[in-house]
Amino acid sequence: MSSSVMLKGRVAVVTGSTSGIGLGVAGALAGHGAAVMLNGFGSREAIAAVKKEITAVPGLAVSYSAADMSKPGEIAEMLAQTERDLGPVDILVNNAGIQFTAPVEDFPVERWDAILAINLSAAFHGIRAALPGMRRRNWGRIVNIASTHGLVGSVHKAAYVAAKHGVIGLTKVVALETATTEVTCNAICPGWVLTPLVEKQVEDLAAREGLSVAQARQTLLADKQPSGEFATTQQIGAAVAFLCSEAAAQIRGAALPVDGGWLAQ
Ligand code: NAD
Repeated sequence: MSSSVMLKGRVAVVTGSTSGIGLGVAGALAGHGAAVMLNGFGSREAIAAVKKEITAVPGLAVSYSAADMSKPGEIAEMLAQTERDLGPVDILVNNAGIQFTAPVEDFPVERWDAILAINLSAAFHGIRAALPGMRRRNWGRIVNIASTHGLVGSVHKAAYVAAKHGVIGLTKVVALETATTEVTCNAICPGWVLTPLVEKQVEDLAAREGLSVAQARQTLLADKQPSGEFATTQQIGAAVAFLCSEAAAQIRGAALPVDGGWLAQ
């Protein structure tokens, strides 16, 4: 992992960072010198491996919270634990998310509630807990991992699309409420990124249409992403690091696509 000092002395919380995009974001912020609070599910071995990967940067502090993002009390405790383990929170990346697909009339109520709680309400609870300290110190970066589905819809994703549109609305309001401070709030809108969350959709499509996994990946891309390529977790991580830089100090309330042209259509 390459290292720089751009974020040296900063403390970052990245929710859902035991896998996929969150792991890429945690790696990017650590690579720029930030201390990182990891969060998310996984076996003890998998989490130890993630910690080891991140601490490959010499002298870097890393901690882990098993907080469940569907539980507001655990979110507040994760932020308190970060302060105890690493110091006051400078950067909050609301990334944890889940997916479920079904036609709206068949959508299980329990899946709707879980997606709204984890993909949308968790960002509110995290921001609510982290913002007072950022205001006091007059510096902060809040980055919400939304989606292209925060700006456009797709069939069978009622809860996910509703939650991600909500995340972009929340991002705008927090950006306006902090506009005269050194705290910024922005969203990133990834298109298809090949993570476990998308692999599941690839496998479902392959099974449904009788395709190979490689064919199903190409079909997903051809449907939405003009570049014909997946965005990578490293590219999302680099976009988050940019939003945390001083160069991005006047980017406020933006919804930045990293989507291979999906939203240009
Ligand atoms: P992933 O399944 O690889 O990772 C999700 C992470 O969230 C994991 O670390 C998991 O343990 C954690 N998580 C899930 N539920 C949690 C909970 N209740 N409490 C704490 N942690 C929890 O998925 P990903 O593709 O990396 O997705 C990350 C984010 O990026 C999500 O918000 C997703 O909506 C968004 N996103 C992904 C894509 C894509 O193509 N992969 C595209 C756009 C947006």
